Amino acid sequence: MKQFDEAARRLNINPENLEIIKQPRRSVIVQLPVQMDNGSFKMFTGYRVQHSIMRGPGKGGIRFHPQVTLDEVQALAAWMTWKCAVVGIPFGGAKGGVVCDPEKMSRGELERMTRRYTADLMDELGPEKDVPAPDVNTDSQTMAWIMDTFSMHARHTVTSVVTGKPIELGGSLGRREATGRGVLFCVRDAAKHLKLDLKGARIAIQGFGNVGSVSADLLAKDGAKIVAVTDAHGGIQNPAGFDIPKLLDFVHKSANKSVAGFPGAKPISNEDLLTMECDVLIPAALENQITGENAADVRCRILAEGANGPTTPEADYILHKKGVFIIPDILCNAGGVTVSYFEWVQDRMGYFWEEDDVNRRLERIMRRSFQDVLALSVEHQVNMRIAAFMLAIKRVWDAMVLRGVYA
Ligand code: NAD
Repeated sequence: MKQFDEAARRLNINPENLEIIKQPRRSVIVQLPVQMDNGSFKMFTGYRVQHSIMRGPGKGGIRFHPQVTLDEVQALAAWMTWKCAVVGIPFGGAKGGVVCDPEKMSRGELERMTRRYTADLMDELGPEKDVPAPDVNTDSQTMAWIMDTFSMHARHTVTSVVTGKPIELGGSLGRREATGRGVLFCVRDAAKHLKLDLKGARIAIQGFGNVGSVSADLLAKDGAKIVAVTDAHGGIQNPAGFDIPKLLDFVHKSANKSVAGFPGAKPISNEDLLTMECDVLIPAALENQITGENAADVRCRILAEGANGPTTPEADYILHKKGVFIIPDILCNAGGVTVSYFEWVQDRMGYFWEEDDVNRRLERIMRRSFQDVLALSVEHQVNMRIAAFMLAIKRVWDAMVLRGVYA
């Protein structure tokens, strides 16, 4: 919020009026009775927050987690508003959640809960209103259930009510790789800006899931050396760089789906990975990994935020002073929501693109957004994060001024 406020101040937006675009537009709480496998009924609390619908329908994931709170959902919905605005796709920001422990629920219980949640939100959701997507503990199957439930109530099939669907039901090719591919485009442009040759550049990646592994694979194909990788179970390093297809195969076959124990590699801890000397560091796991404690020891030239919120504001300040070039999360990992937008477009057209088309359009949007943010950062002498917020806030603000306030 501090960084957001600084960006707004530089845009000379009156703080009182700023509240119009800062506050969540609509927060809905639903209580969901769900029949459990043993026949009993259990109540679950669900949320859907539309932070902004100024530039188009709300857009954002739904998470199933025991610790979901309305506060968290509201903060994440706001995050989506700024992310969609940075890449200039015509969506606002939204987020949803259900307080539950999916590990302790059967598939049938999860399906019934998802369907009841969707049915209770029939008035809020819709291709023109609010378009959910997967998030923590939800996946393409969850989206298929939402799509089906919404369609049953609408009395016709509405594929564009959610994104992240299975390909068979209107999902987009290239969606799985989209976030990692977006990271690649950002890193390429950052390297070019800093006159750093990506061929042979040393890259360290925290997290080897969807974002981390795809980023690793694509950057290695560009000639970079992936010299260290960690995940929840351990980490590996090799100054010569890893053969990523071999590593992916190893992870796939290992019992706990981890990189730990990859032949020919030395172990490395998570802490050491974050502070090792490298050209590009990509946190692609959890939030709050680079903090006031370890930021002074970070030794990379580019920090590409694949994860959401990996750098605390104190760390951000320290890194900026040290001259680390940060590609902020709302830009760096926006490839996923951009291809979600393509999925929505394709569903509405009923015409599906080749994967090449998806990737080419993604590249165009990511590169243009990177250049837009960089240009603002140079013009206003601010870092990339403040510049990204400035771009996002200005886009939402301009939309509001043009529409006028219906007060
Ligand atoms: P994922 O579940 O596929 O992978 C997460 C990875 O992080 C796994 O390899 C896991 O082992 C690792 N990890 C977990 N705890 C760790 C720890 N303590 N130390 C080191 N590694 C750890 O998740 P993902 O989809 O790749 O998402 C990663 C991050 O990117 C999250 O912050 C997510 O919000 C963000 N993100 C993802 C997308 C997307 O499209 N998948 C889009 C935008 C942002």
